[in-house]
Parts: sequence; C-alpha cells; structure tokens
Amino acid sequence: MSPRNVGEIEGADGTGQIGSVECGDILKVWIRVSNEHLADIKYKVMGCPAAVAVCSMMSELAIGMHMDQACELTDEQIADALGGLPENKLHCSNLAATALHEAILDYVLNGAKREVSATVVVDDTASGHLASEHGLSLWIENGERRLLLDTGQSHIIQENCQALGLDLREVNAVVLSHGHYDHTGGLQTVLDSASEVDVYLHPKSVEPKFACHDNQPCRNIGMPSPMTENLQKHNHIRNLVWTEKPTDIYPGFTVTGAIPRHTDFEDTGGPFFLDTDRKQPDTLIDDQALFFESDKGLVVMIGCAHAGIVNTLDYIAELTGKKHIHAVLGGLHLSSASNERIERTINTFHGYDVRQIGLAHCTGSRAVAKFKKVFGDKCFSCSVGTRMTFKES
Ligand SMILES: [Zn+2]
Ligand SMILES: [Zn+2]
Repeated sequence: MSPRNVGEIEGADGTGQIGSVECGDILKVWIRVSNEHLADIKYKVMGCPAAVAVCSMMSELAIGMHMDQACELTDEQIADALGGLPENKLHCSNLAATALHEAILDYVLNGAKREVSATVVVDDTASGHLASEHGLSLWIENGERRLLLDTGQSHIIQENCQALGLDLREVNAVVLSHGHYDHTGGLQTVLDSASEVDVYLHPKSVEPKFACHDNQPCRNIGMPSPMTENLQKHNHIRNLVWTEKPTDIYPGFTVTGAIPRHTDFEDTGGPFFLDTDRKQPDTLIDDQALFFESDKGLVVMIGCAHAGIVNTLDYIAELTGKKHIHAVLGGLHLSSASNERIERTINTFHGYDVRQIGLAHCTGSRAVAKFKKVFGDKCFSCSVGTRMTFKES
C-alpha cells in the first residue's frame, strides 16, 4: 500500500529494465552513483502487489550500498527481507535485484564514458607537492579520449601529471589555444611521452611573437623554435591540423579557430608584436577556444582569451545557436583591463547565465576579486590539481 522510492531520476547514472508484457511484470530502475555508492535509487513497476513490494524492499536495502555489495544482493535476500513471498510469486515477480544489477552494469559500461573531466595540470599557482609556472594546461578526459588544451611552458607538465596520476603516454590530442610560449613550450615534453598525437593549432601560432614593453627590449614569447621547425615532420604527431575555421576534434568537441572581434572594449591585453621593430602589432588571430556540450549547457575552455572573452563567448553562441553557457574555464587575461572592460565582461557572463567560472593563469587578481564578489560560489580560482566534471549531453 505504500511503496517507497517510486519515481524516476532525471539524468540517472544508470538504468536497468526487466520483465515482459507477456508475463505481466515490467520494472525499470534508475540509479544515481556517488563515490562508488548507490546514492539514490528510483523505480517504476507494472505488476502485482508482490512485484511492487519487491521493488520497494530492493530500494530500501540497496540505497547507500557500495556498488560491489549491491551486485551481490539477490532476489532471495529481498524476498526474505519481506518475510517471504507466496510460492507462485517467487519466480516471476521477484525481479528487482536483477533490474538493479542491470542498472549497475549500464553505469559501469556507459556511465564512465559519459563523464567529461577537466583537470588543471599547469597553472601559475599550485599547492602542496605540485609545481607551478606561468602558463596553462588542462587535461580533458572523456572515456578513452585524453586531450590537452595547451601544455604550459616546460617539463613541469610531466611532473604534475605524474603526481596527479595522469599518464602523458595516453594523450591522443593536443589543442594549442595560441602560439605563446607559456601555452606551447611543454609540447616537446608531451610529444616525448605520447607517440600518436593529433595536434590542432592555427597556422599563425607558429609565427615569431614578441612582447615589447615601453623602454624595454622586445622579448621573444613565441613557440620555442626547435618545436616550430620540427612540427611538420615530428614522428610522434599523427595529424597536424591547422584550425583557421571551427574544427571538430571528435563529435561534440570543437575548437573555434580564429575568433571574430566585434566588441570595442576588448583588446589582446598586452604590447604584442610580430617583429622587434614594433611595426606589426600581433592581433593574436591564432587565439582559439575549445568547447563541448554538457547536459547542463556549453562548456568553454580557453587559454588566455587574447581575442577577448566576450568575443569568444559570442562567437561560440553564434556557432552553436545556444544562449546558455554552463561553464567557462581558463585564463581571461584581464590584469591590465579597465574597470569598464571587467564590468562589461561580467555583464556578458550574466547574459549567458554562466554557472561555473573557473579562473586560472592570467586572469589577474583584480578581475578574480570582482568576479567572486558578483558570482559568489559560481566562481572559483583554479590552481594545479583543480578538477571539474561534467556529463556529456
Ligand atoms: Zn598568451
Ligand atoms: Zn598565457
């Protein structure tokens, strides 16, 4: 008369269905998994009172169980917990444990694949035994796919990956957000480990790049030249993909290519030039972002956002036709930005209803403080080791 835990779980981690219309009993089970335990179970059942009672008892017994333990829960144990079932109900109405096992199997086979995680492996800040340097690299994992957005500037990526239990040999693809050394300098280290890598970059990212501050000599801040000379013939690069236009890395994961600039309040964020005579400003046309669709909306990952984060988000919204961006992760390069620019950027984040803002690398402490004040818990600073998880849509 009062079955417990009836219902469905939206976006469940696993589902199992069992029974047939002919035999009269059908039941479907939804599970939510947290830390390898069954955090929640819901079910719907069409059948006799025994079938309903069995589902209710299954859910009562299994919620909170470790998945391994739940796999050993039997139909007999459920019947016993109910104080026994009529002999003629034991066979066809007692199916709840089997349906639960199906749901766990579904989670094991498919649930892990549906998760997308992004871990910061290089950043300007790190704690404990992890190393920091000026630069950025995000390790993105989606089932068997392991993808890096940028590589930091040195071998530190190797040390941090090792400390975080991530194996560089398993990397399948590297996306370079732009040509600056603090995003591309670690590529050599990655290619020394991983042997079959697809590399995605804009053709202009391999051009010489300089930072020329007033009254100071120009500093070479481009991709280290041994790498630029070696890119075309590197035997660990499986495909070298030039991304002038939006390019799918695999279905659902896209790199923007060059980002159109339409705002009048954003610039590249520094005195960047293509030559040491300071004659040709570097517009960082090679700057690009990576995005995918999660079950909660678009997730956008950027290196430094030299194209301007507002230009970047507007372009991705235009490409996808989506008005909601769930998460933005990476460096926003706002340390020398005007207050007006920071405020207009914040307004844009409001406009896209961004729920997770992971600020890293070159965002600048003033901008971080303003974002945190406005967005509260939605906004957090990323350092090496910060890990975020999403579900594919
Ligand atoms: Zn840069
Ligand atoms: Zn940078």
